[in-house]
Amino acid sequence: MTEALPGAVVAGLFGLVIGSFLNVCIVRLPAEQSVVSPPSRCPRCGRPVQWMENIPVFSWLLLGGKCRGCKEPISILYPLVELTVGLLWTAAALQYGLNLQGLTAALFGTLLLGIALTDAREYIIPNEFTWGGLIIGLILSAAGGLHALLLALLGAVVGFAILWLVGLVGKLAFKEEAMGGGDIKMMAMVGAFLGWQGVLLTIFLGAVFGTAIFLPLALVGRKKLVPFGVFLAVGAAVTFVLGPAIIGWYRRYLGVG
Ligand SMILES: [Zn+2]
Repeated sequence: MTEALPGAVVAGLFGLVIGSFLNVCIVRLPAEQSVVSPPSRCPRCGRPVQWMENIPVFSWLLLGGKCRGCKEPISILYPLVELTVGLLWTAAALQYGLNLQGLTAALFGTLLLGIALTDAREYIIPNEFTWGGLIIGLILSAAGGLHALLLALLGAVVGFAILWLVGLVGKLAFKEEAMGGGDIKMMAMVGAFLGWQGVLLTIFLGAVFGTAIFLPLALVGRKKLVPFGVFLAVGAAVTFVLGPAIIGWYRRYLGVG
């Protein structure tokens, strides 16, 4: 634990910077804007954000959560996302070490957070997170050899096919779009990281979480559009951490493992 600490601190600092970039992605990707240019500006007075004001978490605290030009409040979501990603990368380094598995955990968690936030805010899951994440997942799995790459591909196909089928059945049954294309592409990405068993568990958990939260709201007529990607993201994160234990228990329950 003590030997792992310096590495975890470095991973955490790196995570803060990744979190800062994730903020840009969350705001710009749903609007189909470039994430590299132009540099960040205050949306109210157009004042460019100086590099000194762009240090994750600390700048927001030093500025008191306000633009230096016009005193427009800066959302607390920005430092919270940076802090969350920083903690995520720290936890991944402590749990799995500074290795491929740790990097995989940190990147997968970052992608899931980005998806959950864009889906919750705008009901959009950007292709950069889904198709881009799928490519990242396949590359990371390929580092484990051809067999691991084939398992990741199988997971991606299973995830895509199941949600595509659910969407098709829903469309025929309810005569309206039941499953967003973003959810379908997202599960291809998740399948590449978790494999076919993990993707099945993710869909099951996502459906359970989504029903538990949204059924009561739907019954009182509060919410109509469900950001299913949020619940799939939670399901995928739970599966990444607890999936092997849950699947192992289920196989013993069935008497096949
Ligand atoms: Zn301003």
